[in-house]
Amino acid sequence: MLIVGTLAFDAIESPFGKTDKILGGAATFIGLAASQFDVKSAIVSVVGDDFNQEYLDLLSTKNIDLSGVEIVKGGRTFFWSGKYHNDLNTRDTLTTELNTLADFDPKVPEAYKNADVVMLGNLHPSIQMDVINQMESRPKLIILDTMNYWLDNALNELLEVLKKIDVITLNDEEARQLTGEYSLVKAAEKIETMGPKYVVIKKGEHGALLFNKKNIFFAPALPLEEVFDPTGAGDTFAGGFAGYLTATKNVSFENLKNAVIHGSNLASFCVEKFGTERMVDLKFDEVQSRLEQFKELTQFNIEIQ
Ligand code: AMP
Repeated sequence: MLIVGTLAFDAIESPFGKTDKILGGAATFIGLAASQFDVKSAIVSVVGDDFNQEYLDLLSTKNIDLSGVEIVKGGRTFFWSGKYHNDLNTRDTLTTELNTLADFDPKVPEAYKNADVVMLGNLHPSIQMDVINQMESRPKLIILDTMNYWLDNALNELLEVLKKIDVITLNDEEARQLTGEYSLVKAAEKIETMGPKYVVIKKGEHGALLFNKKNIFFAPALPLEEVFDPTGAGDTFAGGFAGYLTATKNVSFENLKNAVIHGSNLASFCVEKFGTERMVDLKFDEVQSRLEQFKELTQFNIEIQ
């Protein structure tokens, strides 16, 4: 599985506290989530030489190949800061400093030019396109995640890359912004005409929807007693979704439903602590027992006459 996305410094404010610059970035969360599955993965990204070696070591210990990570001498790493509102479902971006990302020229490692699954994490759509163009064979599945920043700043490039992908993940507000449709059903239908066969709309604490033609599947988010910091939940969802599909090598709609559950399950851990803290030590048994909880939450026996 090939992952493209930011490795970043994040500074987060939530009603529960405030962090200085900590490890963040879409590729970080995607990689940590995918490492819960038995998959080989590599990250393509860029950082400055201000990026902590301990962060790179951490990703390496999760068996993530970092040969596609460029370290720019004298450069500064992508920096993002955000502040969550009291409901924790909405946030304001305070700062986005692209830094080394602004002139990033991605290089896909040779060993990953035939990857089965490509997970294009949230970053400039022309970088996402560049990576697709470097693949030697058409991946079985190309998944793309994006956000409002790129809808605002690089819409035409985004529309071009959408023609080349299989699955898009984005949140409800972004789906509405992209299509001008308030109804998420209509929005998903419109997005399918732009290229992706499958549309996943993330609704934060209200779960996620999977669309494919007239088929719709819904997974709730696990109701949690405590949510500290939702940063990275969307990326963790995408990493779990992609990691599961890579591991199971099955891209049917039925299996995509399972992938949505795995993504939602992993995202439920991510939000329990600040930044990547919870994902770093997450144990297989914890993941399995929460999957049980997911089953119990959503299964019911009802007689239909
Ligand atoms: P999420 O909460 O899943 O939307 O992801 C948050 C992560 O996305 C943070 O760790 C940020 O470093 C990263 N991020 C924020 N804005 C951008 C952007 N414009 N491009 C790429 N990554 C971003």
